[in-house]
Amino acid sequence: MKLAVASGKGGTGKSMMATNLAFTLAWTGQVTLVDCDVEEPNLHLFFPAPATTRDVTMPVPVVNESLCDHCGKCGKFCQYGALTVLPDRVLFFPELCHSCGGCRLVCPKNAIREEPKKIGTLSTSAPMPGLTLVSGTLDEGSPHAVPVIRDAKKHAARGPVVILDTAPGTSCPVVEALEGCDACILVTESTPFGLHDLQLAVDVAARLGIPAGIVINRSDGNDRETLRFCTDHDLEVMMTVPFDREIAAIQSRGDLLCRVKPEWQKDFWALFAKCRALTGVDG
Ligand code: SF4
Ligand code: SF4
Repeated sequence: MKLAVASGKGGTGKSMMATNLAFTLAWTGQVTLVDCDVEEPNLHLFFPAPATTRDVTMPVPVVNESLCDHCGKCGKFCQYGALTVLPDRVLFFPELCHSCGGCRLVCPKNAIREEPKKIGTLSTSAPMPGLTLVSGTLDEGSPHAVPVIRDAKKHAARGPVVILDTAPGTSCPVVEALEGCDACILVTESTPFGLHDLQLAVDVAARLGIPAGIVINRSDGNDRETLRFCTDHDLEVMMTVPFDREIAAIQSRGDLLCRVKPEWQKDFWALFAKCRALTGVDG
């Protein structure tokens, strides 16, 4: 089962939900937790452990100027403006390249070959029995978050339960993380901003055809607007976490609620059962 944890905006407690859910489930089974927030991965802070790392690369074109006659076909083909053909050379802008490989195919002189370019790192660790943590990290300045997320997902695909902690928001990296998931937990706060961003996240999940349920975090008990929205959109509120200074303190010192206060594990088990029910699997 592939389960995404997402939120329309940052700071709602999305990582808190993903880490505690993974920690709870790992006591009785195999769980893979994937940090898809590749521009700012932080799940390793909650699960410190030695990790193995490898590069994430994408193929980019390299022009052999001795074969090139500067016909311009590659530049015309590239929809992303990554190639500009001048009378005496071809300019390549790697940050614009999407690795489609088309320029190599259209070159009549076979002057283009592909070479791997490093765009990020993938690290894998086993911080506790039953839990594998896969973290994608985008290289500084690289705009290619999506291929790093795709690689992290592919690497994690073998686990029976895979939990993906997405980036905040509703942009392309979030869509990439959500794609192919069986269900999605949308974490929100009962504030006007929280509700606005929840609406966007619900819309993205619906467009991708992924069943979604809601977690209200840091609730002060005044959740009326959020509850009304959920009722109107036929969304189940699967869990409500109260605003609590002790929970905030546990989180901010890099610890886990379910590790410090194991009585919370039953709530995360109940959350997981509801996620399974969302996918049509009971219990
Ligand atoms: S298509 Fe090939 S030959 Fe034409 S400009 Fe591009 S690299 Fe050169
Ligand atoms: S691989 Fe595709 S995106 Fe990259 S330069 Fe070639 S045509 Fe453009």
